[in-house]
Amino acid sequence: MNTDQVPRYRCNACGNLTRFDVTSRRRTRAFHHFDVSGDLSVEAETVLEEETEEVSCRWCHSSGSVVGLEAPEKVEAPERGVDGNPESTTGSVARSAEG
Ligand SMILES: [Zn+2]
Repeated sequence: MNTDQVPRYRCNACGNLTRFDVTSRRRTRAFHHFDVSGDLSVEAETVLEEETEEVSCRWCHSSGSVVGLEAPEKVEAPERGVDGNPESTTGSVARSAEG
């Protein structure tokens, strides 16, 4: 199976990056190839749909602390001037109503 598209995970509780129990639901189509004696070989399996239901950490068994690393977290830069002046937007609206 091609594992290139499987996201990586990290457990924020213990820092585990390598061992997880992943519960997923998958819909696949495959070519079932029976030979004359009835032995089956499954070929050309294609994943049509896949939904990950739960990922839990193998180390600390925490499921709530596991995050996917598929989308890297944004590092928010502190914006200056916005927090220091909370009434700037509402104040201008009230002032225009006066005129
Ligand atoms: Zn953990």
